[in-house]
Amino acid sequence: MEKPLASIKEFLLDILFPKSCLNCKEEGSYFCPDCQALLEVSGKQFCPYCTRMSFDGKTCISCQGKAKLDGLYFAVPYNHRLMKRLISQFKYEPLIKELANPLASLIITHFQLLEKPPSFLEKERREEFYLIPIPCSKKVLKWRGFNPAEEIAKELSSCLEIPVLSDALSQNIKTIKGKKILLVDDIYTDNSPMQEYARILKEAEAKEVWGVAIARE
Ligand SMILES: [Zn+2]
Ligand SMILES: [Zn+2]
Repeated sequence: MEKPLASIKEFLLDILFPKSCLNCKEEGSYFCPDCQALLEVSGKQFCPYCTRMSFDGKTCISCQGKAKLDGLYFAVPYNHRLMKRLISQFKYEPLIKELANPLASLIITHFQLLEKPPSFLEKERREEFYLIPIPCSKKVLKWRGFNPAEEIAKELSSCLEIPVLSDALSQNIKTIKGKKILLVDDIYTDNSPMQEYARILKEAEAKEVWGVAIARE
């Protein structure tokens, strides 16, 4: 069978510049499975607005008044040394776009470890969900060549079979009415742009808006 051009290019690049793990230098991938295990993905969920543990990831009752996000998923605390390094190599020089795959797989592992697995893991309940990456400015996009949040959303999409709506926040806001939205970003913080986008999506009558991040600061 004939190989598509992209995979031939990838094959040649692998020979010329073999990938090696950013942490242990083992050849084969940018982030090897052994080092992935070092990150100890969380099987617990917390309210996005305080540090209270939350059985199903929902915003706790005392935070609900001011909150825009219905809940949050994140795989690892951002203060983990290895996590910080990975995110910086993904978003800043050397800008390793391929890290989106192992980073997204940390989130998938998190979903699988949860005591109450998210409903979108079931095929029949996926239809009402959309993945929406947090946009980045045109200037930053030009410099970086890709939007990290979008790359993670694409990886999650191919794994979960939930469509990505990249232009929903700029042009297609009407399409989200009545839908459940998974807002994707690399890091979640209290001042995350997710807050503002969640507000916009709620105004456009999204049924639910959840944050999905690799790490929480
Ligand atoms: Zn390694
Ligand atoms: Zn709370």
